[in-house]
Amino acid sequence: MKHVLVTGGAGYIGSHACKALKAAGYVPVTYDNLSTGWQDAVKFGPFEQGDLTDAARLDAVFAKYEPIAVVHFAALSQVSESMQKPALYWRNNVVGSLTLIEAMLKAGCKEIVFSSTCATYGDHDNVVLDENCRQEPINPYGASKRAIEDMLLGFGESDGLRSVVFRYFNVAGADPDGEVGEFHQPETHLVPLMLDAIDGKRDALTIFGTDYETPDGTCIRDYVHVMDLVDAHVLGLNWLQDGKESRAFNLGTGNGFSVREVVNESRIVTNKDVPVVEGARRAGDCTMLVSGSVRAEAELGWRPKRSNMKQMIIDAWRWHQTGHYDQ
Ligand code: UDP
Repeated sequence: MKHVLVTGGAGYIGSHACKALKAAGYVPVTYDNLSTGWQDAVKFGPFEQGDLTDAARLDAVFAKYEPIAVVHFAALSQVSESMQKPALYWRNNVVGSLTLIEAMLKAGCKEIVFSSTCATYGDHDNVVLDENCRQEPINPYGASKRAIEDMLLGFGESDGLRSVVFRYFNVAGADPDGEVGEFHQPETHLVPLMLDAIDGKRDALTIFGTDYETPDGTCIRDYVHVMDLVDAHVLGLNWLQDGKESRAFNLGTGNGFSVREVVNESRIVTNKDVPVVEGARRAGDCTMLVSGSVRAEAELGWRPKRSNMKQMIIDAWRWHQTGHYDQ
């Protein structure tokens, strides 16, 4: 049995990845401290509760399953929280990843697929971003992820660790089968907050900033469907299993949507009004983050199937109305 350790497997993206890994013939072992994830979301393989910074617990889990590789999602991932509490990000993300890498090497596990982010690039004056762009993050979240990327390359040199790094753009949508979906407590992401506003669970969506230098004044992001995103992780794992070298890939579609455009598309899909209020900019937000790379398509053979805005909102809306985890 090919066990793969999935850190953060109880979270939004991690739980969808476990489903895809299982379908591809791997046994995903979720390692999660449940600080932001849900045990109910662990449906596709064993669950081991533990913290990334707990070296002894990691050693025990590596000894129990002897995973062939790690897919590493576990992280704090909110830009605005990272601006207010940077120490949380350095400790949890960077120290946690260092502890994980040391446990891997101790156990002789030398392949890792890592969730990085377009936030490692920073604000590049409305240019689309490819993997060779300078990485100049403007918030501690992006900086913590860039530090981990550096660390992975360093351990590649010293210990032969091989990594596939995925720099995600914005992730949306949900499993069309309704087995898993997006649920954060508290919620901070645009699409679920907007759906809450549509069905009256909150008064309105606040648009964070209407004075950006974009055509309609709101931030522009590149949205990828979570099912397509996790497909790339299976391809990344296969890449490492084939013995290929460490590589970084953007995961985006190249299509930018402003906040107002996302709101308009939701109005069309749900056929309901979206109550919005215009608010101030959110600290740490870049003006525009859009991928300008087809490296994942060209080298991994990644073929996004559901990453159009309409489909992402249809799938998110279905989950929003029918799916939930016990709190
Ligand atoms: N956003 C917004 N109102 C909200 C949440 C998000 O206007 O209540 C905007 C945010 O400023 C950004 C985009 O929506 O431009 C996506 O934000 P999200 O938090 O979903 O993801 P991030 O880009 O921070 O990873």
